[in-house]
Amino acid sequence: MIQPREQVELQPFNTLALPSRARWFAEVRSVEELAAAAAWATTHDVPLLLLGGGSNVVLAGDWPGLAVRMASAGKRVVADEGETVLIEVAAGENWHALVQWTLAQGFEGLENLTLIPGTVGAAPVQNIGAYGVELASCLVSVRGWSLVAGREEELPAAACELAYRDSIFKHALRDRFVITSITLRLSRHGRRVTDYPALREALLKLGIEPSRASAVDVERAVRQVRQSKLPDPDQLPNAGSFFKNPLIPHAQYQALRRQWPALPSYAAGPGQIKVPAGWLVEQAGWKGKRRGAVGVHAEQALVLVHFGGGTGADVLALAAAIQADVQARFGIALEIEPRLYGDVTAAVAKAER
Ligand code: FAD
Ligand code: NAP
Repeated sequence: MIQPREQVELQPFNTLALPSRARWFAEVRSVEELAAAAAWATTHDVPLLLLGGGSNVVLAGDWPGLAVRMASAGKRVVADEGETVLIEVAAGENWHALVQWTLAQGFEGLENLTLIPGTVGAAPVQNIGAYGVELASCLVSVRGWSLVAGREEELPAAACELAYRDSIFKHALRDRFVITSITLRLSRHGRRVTDYPALREALLKLGIEPSRASAVDVERAVRQVRQSKLPDPDQLPNAGSFFKNPLIPHAQYQALRRQWPALPSYAAGPGQIKVPAGWLVEQAGWKGKRRGAVGVHAEQALVLVHFGGGTGADVLALAAAIQADVQARFGIALEIEPRLYGDVTAAVAKAER
């Protein structure tokens, strides 16, 4: 049995600190409580909003249904395979705390993913990634509650359609499957990924040759780089990178490069080139710009920030203005990374009036 609370303010539960009142709200700590919450929403015929740490959502207006916050806890080694271990972790666990715990146990593989806010359960949703490593590199399987079948199901990683900041949970299983735990395979003697220039520089600054860095060294270096350029949501509310890095066809890249010789690029699979969205936003003149209660971070053009007193509509109106400028200048449509909730069109129209 769960007894949702009525009229709960979600501002403390999203890292952009956007105001949004949930008609109903419940925290769930187990699969049974989750199942009860899902049944409650069905019985009362209200939509479900699932929240982890709220670090990848934009809440545009109030939520007319039941907001459910995943708060389940627990992690355990389920198999010791010698060189590798399998660990199962509950969805409500904090991701960064998990990274610290694995390194303290001598388990390697998550060091590049340190300091990513949010919960373990949300990690497969966008296949979290940073500094050349994605969750996909160690995800074995996902357990969850199927809102369609009304039972627990297990999906092997191969069925999760993990891709660049993407997965089946943003498409076919969107709003249909709640992840309750994940299983990861970590290594006792992993291979380091240290080829991102900022990471290499940070290691060298610490007096560590990148090819000899330990997993603990890499975690420390990534943490230092992130702390130096990313705003801490507790100090300056934000949702991390607001736009995905566009993947464009090779021919389009060549044409752009003729016009913009400094355009940075990275290979991204057959025929595709990854272009840093932050560079496009900066070239379009948005870095450090403020529009009322919201703005573009001065150190990192990909991060939109909320100075206080604003709404989701203000954030989305700013995002729309940036998208229009980037489209006009480069012919590239920037895709918003966080998930949007509420009546987005109405909210933006209101903010632009
Ligand atoms: P939420 O924001 O609560 O939810 C995100 C989406 O996932 C929602 O649609 C929600 O319904 C869904 N969801 C949440 N939990 C579950 C579940 N258990 N089952 C099914 N669906 C669920 N991301 C990166 O990939 N790399 C980074 O380096 C990175 N850096 C960041 C830095 C900052 C400062 C911030 C604010 C964000 C950053 N992010 C990064 C984005 C974000 O932290 C991740 O996407 C994170 O995994 C979101 O977790 P969350 O628990 O906060 O999810
Ligand atoms: P950065 O180091 O300034 O690099 C800018 C962009 O170039 C990054 O987005 C990265 O793509 C790409 N890049 C750099 N070196 C690369 C290489 N060797 N190979 C392939 N791509 C390369 O980036 P940053 O903004 O400070 O972020 C650092 C890392 O943390 C990135 O991996 C980024 O994705 C991650 N991050 C993510 C979020 C989020 O909310 N999603 C927020 C903060 C940081 P990728 O983004 O594809 O790695």
